[in-house]
Amino acid sequence: MANNITVLVGLQWGDEGKGRMVDYLAQDVDIVARYQGGNNAGHTVVNEFGTYKLHLIPSGIFNKNVINILGPGMVIDIESLSEELEELEKAGISVDNIRVSDRATITFPFHRMEDNLEEDRLGGAAFGSTRRGIAYAYGERYMKKSIQVGELFYPDELKKRIYGLAEWKNLLFKNIYNSNETLDPDKVLQWLDKYGSKIKKYVCDTTSLLEESAANGKKVLFEAQLGSLRDIYYGIYPFTTSSCTLASYAPVGGGLFNKRIDKVIGVMKSFSSCVGAGPFVTEMPDEEAGSLREIAMEYGASTGRPRRIGHFDAVATRYGAMVQGVDEIALTKLDSLSGMKKLSICTEYDVNGKLTDKFGLTPELEIAKPVYIEMDGWSEDITGCRKFSELPEAAQKYVNKIEELVGYKIKYVSVGPERESLIVK
Ligand code: GDP
Ligand code: MG
Repeated sequence: MANNITVLVGLQWGDEGKGRMVDYLAQDVDIVARYQGGNNAGHTVVNEFGTYKLHLIPSGIFNKNVINILGPGMVIDIESLSEELEELEKAGISVDNIRVSDRATITFPFHRMEDNLEEDRLGGAAFGSTRRGIAYAYGERYMKKSIQVGELFYPDELKKRIYGLAEWKNLLFKNIYNSNETLDPDKVLQWLDKYGSKIKKYVCDTTSLLEESAANGKKVLFEAQLGSLRDIYYGIYPFTTSSCTLASYAPVGGGLFNKRIDKVIGVMKSFSSCVGAGPFVTEMPDEEAGSLREIAMEYGASTGRPRRIGHFDAVATRYGAMVQGVDEIALTKLDSLSGMKKLSICTEYDVNGKLTDKFGLTPELEIAKPVYIEMDGWSEDITGCRKFSELPEAAQKYVNKIEELVGYKIKYVSVGPERESLIVK
């Protein structure tokens, strides 16, 4: 069977190294399509062109023959997109092959404002939002108040919609948040005009493009943001993101209906990391997390915040792989564990004295205690290994154990951030 339609997803809390894997896999595809999320994403790609942090633009952009689609399921801050396009162009990377769905949702500065007002109001109980307005952009899509990117081409209608929106928003800012800020609809229209003019040439009906390409046998790679455990339905709600991060959603958020998904590749990190609030069962105490955080450079690509660090959690990751319907796994950052004397893997949770291997609802995760097995570490630098057999025996054992516990085949082992630092098993 042809493997033409592939979806690449995260199996944990995000930041597993999806950008890195998409950059590698995109060498062999015709189209990369992001199908959810917004500029809260941070995908770091390291290749012959340098090191880039992508937020909205798909990680296939460094392959000049690949068409890179921002799909209908995304929320797009067109100011942020304009900046990202400019940065890439300045670095000599061609952005001619970008296509933005006319059905994608626009994220506005007033969404960022609401995100800030609400996080500030919550104070100590805040979600740890990236404050990019993502929840508000998605929320309004469901409330049917959003503006779609393609509406930029209908200025008269757009003006009416923005005036209506401003009236509603001003009631909200004034009466709920007691804010002195008022939203001037003409300023919003100016903003739309300014950044809209920079991105209009990329906007099209991306679904027709995908359908036609897939019908002609082109290879498509769907790229997800975040991971299973941040999915709006199956994740650690309400500490999730505001969209569906699962592979099953790719055809909807990406826009492809005449072909089925052939393969789902799940990316998982050799240990755990998590940005923002929410239960994190295998979290290491700060003194212990500190050195791994430095070695692995675990700081948010979008926010620069230090990521929370934990031991590998087989309960969470097995669940994460299950909800993705994963076919094969890419394990990343094995090199970051070099030098750790012992490695703990969580195999079960202790919930009020009862052992379970089930990944439950958030209130249960809040009280779950990790049950660990311990494995030997290794001290060798493994960044030069390109065959599985070249890895130290302890590293092989660690990978095999994780594969057995998670229950899906590990096909790739990443030993460095660079495109070619990869073992294909
Ligand atoms: P994403 O959000 O899933 O795309 O992941 P991020 O890019 O936010 O975080 C992954 C980080 O790990 C990035 O800084 C990558 O450059 C880096 N990275 C990815 N794979 C490896 C690896 O195998 N080893 C090392 N040392 N770093 C890696
Ligand atoms: Mg990231």
